[in-house]
Amino acid sequence: MTFEDLGLAEPILKAVEKEGYTTPTPIQEKAIPILLKGKDLLGVAQTGTGKTAAFGIPILNHLYNAQKTQTGKRRIKALVVTPTRELAIQIGESFDAYARYTNIKTTVIFGGVKQGKQTRILQQGVDILVATPGRLLDLMGQGFISFRDLEFAVLDEADQMLDMGFIHDIKKIIAKLPPKRQSLFFSATMPKSIVELSRKILGDFEQVTIKPEQATAEKVDQGVYFVSKPNKPKLLAHLIKEKPEDSVLVFSRTKHGANKIVKKLAQSDIRSAAIHGNKSQTARQKALGDFKDGQLRVLVATDIAARGIDVEELNLVINYDLPNISETYVHRIGRTGRAEASGIALSFCDKEERPYLRDIEKLINQQVPRMPEHQFIEGDDEADTQTEQPRRKPNSDRNRSRNRNNSGSSKYRGSGSQKRSGNNRSKSRGRD
Ligand code: AMP
Repeated sequence: MTFEDLGLAEPILKAVEKEGYTTPTPIQEKAIPILLKGKDLLGVAQTGTGKTAAFGIPILNHLYNAQKTQTGKRRIKALVVTPTRELAIQIGESFDAYARYTNIKTTVIFGGVKQGKQTRILQQGVDILVATPGRLLDLMGQGFISFRDLEFAVLDEADQMLDMGFIHDIKKIIAKLPPKRQSLFFSATMPKSIVELSRKILGDFEQVTIKPEQATAEKVDQGVYFVSKPNKPKLLAHLIKEKPEDSVLVFSRTKHGANKIVKKLAQSDIRSAAIHGNKSQTARQKALGDFKDGQLRVLVATDIAARGIDVEELNLVINYDLPNISETYVHRIGRTGRAEASGIALSFCDKEERPYLRDIEKLINQQVPRMPEHQFIEGDDEADTQTEQPRRKPNSDRNRSRNRNNSGSSKYRGSGSQKRSGNNRSKSRGRD
């Protein structure tokens, strides 16, 4: 199937071509025809599958066709709610790219920066609004946002929003949307709470599922090293030195662990930087920007800090720790092998992590290939255990992380050094 076969308007096709997309990804192939028919959609898919275009293109196609008959100030006709500012910025950039040859205007709003610039743009009028939940409710409450003309509502990464405690915010937002609308609901996983939430949002819907194994196994070469905990730094340095050309994203389960990895790599003369919730926004912005530009080859991140990082040419993901939540593994390895690209994901597994590996393999329905024996395999697993931080759930990063990183150049990226404006919103508001 080609994009032409989908019957899209000429300017959208031209933009897709300009992006370099030749064929639709599986989720695009399935979701675009459903959405063009005007049906609601439940998409079970993660970031990295091309889902932004899967919902962005049909929305833009409809707005472009409808725009010919419209006059007067722009009104919000499509709303995309997404959990983090990185994702919001990325989605806004994708909409801008796909709308490049149309007159459709998108803006992005998120917390952690002053609201003045955002409200000015809203007052001038936009067609599409991409928002994180806290700031969206704030600005709705202040009367800057009207959904009277809304036709499309997209809830993105619903499982992550629930994990981050946004459920009440989401319900409040939904209550304010006009009932006659096309609704799209995306989630990487489908626990019971998500199914219940999707029922509240969707009317007569069709479902598209892109299984994790489809998203990952086909494109990402995976491998696992059995290595003792004290030997992990040596193996990491060895692998990085073996691939001097590659950009490497290293995942650590904890913030403390991420800092420790950076230190250990420095001892092996490898420059790296860590991004996690305890780092200042400026530091995170700089590290991510340098990594995206190729100035920094090795980035060490916790799961939440890394969500939404879309780095072209990311060749290698290393799971320094195996996550104890299997879906997190899928998210992590999805950082490489985005859409058409191929990538490599290597995991380190010590004795304590064996059960996590088993859970992961159950989820992805395949065995992660065992890497050949290596010189760092020996070591006393127990020796380092006492000096390690207690194991925490990945959620602990979520609960504590506040400001998200925003980096690079974009009309949506605010000043990284800006402090959170003095609002008195609850904890969950601070998290977007
Ligand atoms: P997403 O899942 O929306 O975050 O998309 C992941 C990446 O895939 C982004 O970098 C997109 O630009 C890219 N992408 C989306 N659709 C296609 C396509 N049909 N062909 C090639 N790349 C794509």
